[in-house]
Amino acid sequence: MGQHTKSLVLRLGLKSENRCWYCGSDFADEWDSVHVEHQFPKSRGGTNDFDNLVLACRRCNSTKGDKDLEEYRVYAAKKEAGIPKFSGEQLDWLEVQGFEFPEIEGHVFFGEWPKGQERGEQDGED
Ligand SMILES: [Zn+2]
Repeated sequence: MGQHTKSLVLRLGLKSENRCWYCGSDFADEWDSVHVEHQFPKSRGGTNDFDNLVLACRRCNSTKGDKDLEEYRVYAAKKEAGIPKFSGEQLDWLEVQGFEFPEIEGHVFFGEWPKGQERGEQDGED
């Protein structure tokens, strides 16, 4: 991460209140382990544009790997719902058996939460 300037990291921190953009973990104790994360992976043509960059903790950064944002969203939603990961072959087999996969609600990353609103605080007031 040596190529990223401190000012870039500080500016990116404003996007997510100096927390991991994905999980919201606080960097207060571990600024050394902050990763500048490409939402659309660089390995797949993602750019260094400010819009494509967020701060991520080590754990999220390594879990996300080369997934793009939407792939990671599906992965995170499944993980949160406790749905096991199946291999392609297993998925094919399950489909042949007529298994229907449950609909999974889209995962919302910390950086996407409406500002000033706690998670889960949705009392349908609109
Ligand atoms: Zn994280």
